[in-house]
Amino acid sequence: MTTKRPPTTLEKMGLNSPMALALHLPSRYEDETELFTIEEALGLGRFQSIQTQGAVIRNQVMFRPRRQLLVTIEDDTASLQLRFLNFYPSQQKQMAVGSHVRVRGEVREGYLGAEMVHPTVRAVTPDAPLSASLTPVYPASAGISQTIIRKAVLQALRDASLKESLAEFLPTKLMAEILPSNDWPRLQEAIVYLHQPPADANTQSLLERTHPAWRRVQFEELLAQQISLKRAHAIRRERRAPSFEKDRQKTKASAKKATANKTIISIEDGLLKVLPFELTGAQARVWLEIGQDLSNSFPMNRLLQGDVGSGKTVIAALAAARAMDHGYQAAIMAPTEILAEQHYLKMKEWFEPLGVKIAWLSGSLKAKEKRLAQEMIESGDAQLIIGTHALIQDKVSFAKLGLAVIDEQHRFGVRQRLEIQQRVGSELFYCHQLMMSATPIPRTLAMTYYADLDVSVIDELPPGRKPIATKVVKAARRDEVISGLHDWLAKGLQAYWVCPLIEESEVLQLQTAVESFEQLTQALPNFKVGLVHGRLKSEEKAAVMAAFKANEIQLLVATTVIEVGVDVPNAALMVIEHAERFGYAQIHQLRGRVGRGSADSVCILMYAEPLSLAAKERLQTLRETSDGFVIAERDLSLRGPGELLGAKQSGDAMLRFVDLQRDAWLIELAQVAADRLLAEHSDIVERHLERWLGSRTEFLKA
Ligand code: ADP
Ligand code: MG
Repeated sequence: MTTKRPPTTLEKMGLNSPMALALHLPSRYEDETELFTIEEALGLGRFQSIQTQGAVIRNQVMFRPRRQLLVTIEDDTASLQLRFLNFYPSQQKQMAVGSHVRVRGEVREGYLGAEMVHPTVRAVTPDAPLSASLTPVYPASAGISQTIIRKAVLQALRDASLKESLAEFLPTKLMAEILPSNDWPRLQEAIVYLHQPPADANTQSLLERTHPAWRRVQFEELLAQQISLKRAHAIRRERRAPSFEKDRQKTKASAKKATANKTIISIEDGLLKVLPFELTGAQARVWLEIGQDLSNSFPMNRLLQGDVGSGKTVIAALAAARAMDHGYQAAIMAPTEILAEQHYLKMKEWFEPLGVKIAWLSGSLKAKEKRLAQEMIESGDAQLIIGTHALIQDKVSFAKLGLAVIDEQHRFGVRQRLEIQQRVGSELFYCHQLMMSATPIPRTLAMTYYADLDVSVIDELPPGRKPIATKVVKAARRDEVISGLHDWLAKGLQAYWVCPLIEESEVLQLQTAVESFEQLTQALPNFKVGLVHGRLKSEEKAAVMAAFKANEIQLLVATTVIEVGVDVPNAALMVIEHAERFGYAQIHQLRGRVGRGSADSVCILMYAEPLSLAAKERLQTLRETSDGFVIAERDLSLRGPGELLGAKQSGDAMLRFVDLQRDAWLIELAQVAADRLLAEHSDIVERHLERWLGSRTEFLKA
């Protein structure tokens, strides 16, 4: 029997093979190939990080203004002070008076003259050799030193198995035809170069990751990704899903009850009749696209993209109606209870007059209610199922699921999206999937992560929407804001007051919401103020929301639970407290709650000072534009694609070395190469995928 030892920190970082270590590439480099005298360092070191050395002549812990370690070193030319604000006893010992150290850092003008703050320090003899290559600095998790990673990587690079793992197998001829220039090194050379660049390497291009060695690695990674996306696409076409053609439906008998003239009409036509509005041109177009997908006998995998308030819900309802008309179940899943409930109420309003049976499933149902809902779903009694994550978390099995709609899809992890597919219960049989999002996906992202996703865009708002005027206001002017709010409510209009997001503590978040609620209740005695937050039971939440919708509550104080989906046209003013703590997407979504009625809409972003540069830019952008695409691009450059797509939740970003904005042109090359490889060299394809993606390919199916 073998005993299991706990994984080492390296293993926890996924660095458990020579290949994994070889592909753990540096995030930057330090130049320890040159050594300067202290006198030279005092001049040159003001512009860049520089290496020098000397004997320690002073080592002293000072307590003013706070505990710190001051060390002075000296060589034949001059002396230099080193300052450490945090230090370990071992460091203090390493720099004992009389020892000799080599240090690296920038020189700046301190209180008592030139100094280095927190230089890197090594105790070496004066004639210790300089390194011949730039020193790599690796991405690392807490609790592991660079020295340990460097050692492990060096050992890995010498491992015999690596020759095989990094073997060149892209056909030379094909590469020569596709690649823009022939200065890209072979893969193994590129990897070694990136770990140990020679002293004269172009550090700029290494840091910016535009060096030919980086290009080679990035290209390989993108190629693997493009191949697997193309394969996912082909595999999807091989799968079977029920074909829902418009005019071939087996109309449910229940639909006829609802119609006045007793002729049999489909649920879909019934829905179009009860809708209080006409579809916009954009809605009609995307419905055509989706309808076409649904008529295929392979599963739809489509993203419906449309800004907040563009009217995605009715499209989901139409798709559901078509599935139900063919005798299949449809499910709509939303990321929050409030949003799911909103869908539930809307669908009840639209579909119940048509005799459709709807089941509601959420985490907060009582055990008995939940069991009842599950039974309805399993027996096929429920035609339309609406819910939160509970739809995939609990033991739900669908009798005959034909369509799954996933609202605000980026809020779900990739895994969760795979999960719903598995709920259908058969390896061979799949349901159609419609994902919806108000977060536009930039083109570069759509080309990579989403190569196997068809995209429809609603690029037009329903008629009569007014643009939202966004104002940015200091928190110090809170009283003015409240008095403006008073005038607003006096006109018979309603408003939202959104409380600050406090990520660290739900309790604190609740507390500030209650405080604001109390203050506003007092300041606005003539109006009814309501409070909704995440800790309320779902019935309580629903009751508050219903009262707000009925204008029994004029001002709704809310935490971010209202982030998505809430729809009250008479509420056209929103105040967001501590707007500086919210991200782009959050404010954009929140703000989308107003601007739905006939009144001019206003969003007030209140911020507390001091404002960071990033927050300032964010608020400015949000004031200047309400274009979801502009905002998404800014967001992307800030946060990276993982978070935008929900991949972060899965803990697995697909691309490690490629920056989709910087390297967009490489994607196109990789696409061409992927097509050629699949057509001409199918034997190579497998090996290439395995090398770059390993177990991560499953995410491509989502
Ligand atoms: P979102 O795309 O943000 O989910 P919703 O589907 O909630 O937007 O629609 C926002 C509002 O616009 C709802 O009140 C909805 O009833 C209304 N709406 C949707 N389509 C139209 C239309 N074609 N004409 C008028 N109002 C519409
Ligand atoms: Mg919506």
